[in-house]
Amino acid sequence: MIDLHTHSTVSDGSDPPETIPALARAAGCSAVALTDHDRLDGVTAAANAAAALGVELVPGCELSCEVSPGTMHVLVYFVEPGDGPLQDELVRLQQARDTRNQLMATKLADELGLPVTLEEIEAEAGGVGVGRPHVAAVLVRKGVVGSVQEAFDRYLAKGQAGYVDKERLTAADALRLARMSGGVPVLAHPLSLKLGPTELDAAVGELTALGLAGLEAIYGRYTQDDRDGLARLAADHGLVVTGGSDHHGTYKPDLQVGVGRGDLDVPAQALEHLRQRRPG
Ligand code: AMP
Ligand code: FE
Ligand code: FE
Ligand code: ZN
Repeated sequence: MIDLHTHSTVSDGSDPPETIPALARAAGCSAVALTDHDRLDGVTAAANAAAALGVELVPGCELSCEVSPGTMHVLVYFVEPGDGPLQDELVRLQQARDTRNQLMATKLADELGLPVTLEEIEAEAGGVGVGRPHVAAVLVRKGVVGSVQEAFDRYLAKGQAGYVDKERLTAADALRLARMSGGVPVLAHPLSLKLGPTELDAAVGELTALGLAGLEAIYGRYTQDDRDGLARLAADHGLVVTGGSDHHGTYKPDLQVGVGRGDLDVPAQALEHLRQRRPG
């Protein structure tokens, strides 16, 4: 088995990137993808650790796209740190995220009167890849809320008083930049688009025409029915069925590398099928 969706301290996971391969091996995975939000910074350390363990490390990242009504995340595989169209765009997204974090801290402290500062949020994140889960962790530590989930539900989720919108790529740009950089793009947790079956089918058709290569049908938090339905949708559009846990360490304690909630089993052949979709 393999796991094609994990986060490290480089974004909003709690495990350092170099520890992800050992977690994957312990779970019985022959390969694991590191897919931090907007960043490839953990890939080299993770690849070195993976090589020493005989696990394959798939370089990756996760991009947020503009969409309504739900949220759209695209996982991009096989793009290495360094120079390239997607890599350059990631730098811009990271700068936009810095600005957003400042706005969020100001809003929470000055408008909502919550005991939280940007410095505390950055310290929680370890300096880079700051995001809402780190804000949530600070609110938990201060006793404002009882859990990361409660922090989202009361303050940080879209529509709540502490929410600040984030810079996103259009789906077309994300898919184009991924392809131009030698990457293979996959729609993450497709049900987060919050579309009914007919609309989801139409959206997947449009994304496929723009270069989408796969659907993350076998997702950590999906039921077997969800997974089966998404696998059928992938087949209808000639897309690769992929899967992963979306491990974030302590930020999503129910999701472990390789096994998700205990019922995840992503076949290694998904990675071989993705490899066949690499741009010539
Ligand atoms: P950000 O990129 O800073 O907007 O944070 C996005 C991350 O926050 C996601 O990858 C999830 O880990 C987490 N997240 C977003 N929305 C929720 C929610 N409603 N409940 C719990 N976690 C969430
Ligand atoms: Fe996340
Ligand atoms: Fe995601
Ligand atoms: Zn993710």
